[in-house]
Amino acid sequence: MSDCVFCKIIAGEIPSEKVYEDDEILMFHDINKSAPVHILCVPKIHIDSLNDLNLNHENIKYAARILEKIPEIAKSFGISGGYRVITNIGEDGGQSVKHLHFHVIGGRKLGYLG
Ligand code: AMP
Ligand code: ZN
Repeated sequence: MSDCVFCKIIAGEIPSEKVYEDDEILMFHDINKSAPVHILCVPKIHIDSLNDLNLNHENIKYAARILEKIPEIAKSFGISGGYRVITNIGEDGGQSVKHLHFHVIGGRKLGYLG
């Protein structure tokens, strides 16, 4: 997707502070942290949101790879004692970038939703 900021980050057209990368997924620091640790995890293929995941399509594999990797990354950032994983979906869900991503947020005591 040519106008997608996360596709541009994946392509290296926009710089990012990378945390982890392999053939299928990329993790990088959020530019606007809401906690001491705030990492974004994205599939390297463009998927609009969680709404578009489908067990019969290989795209579910990208999400599964991200979810499998998150605990290891959380541990490496010293937040394995507690953190939050969020994915916003659509306009009302507060999704500002229409490329599936999971926020990993931690490093402070988190409130119920904030
Ligand atoms: P959401 O509101 O769930 O779509 O989250 C999008 C997130 O992307 C926000 O937390 C932004 O701060 C973050 N973001 C937007 N552009 C960049 C960028 N170029 N590098 C890193 N994070 C970004
Ligand atoms: Zn994209």
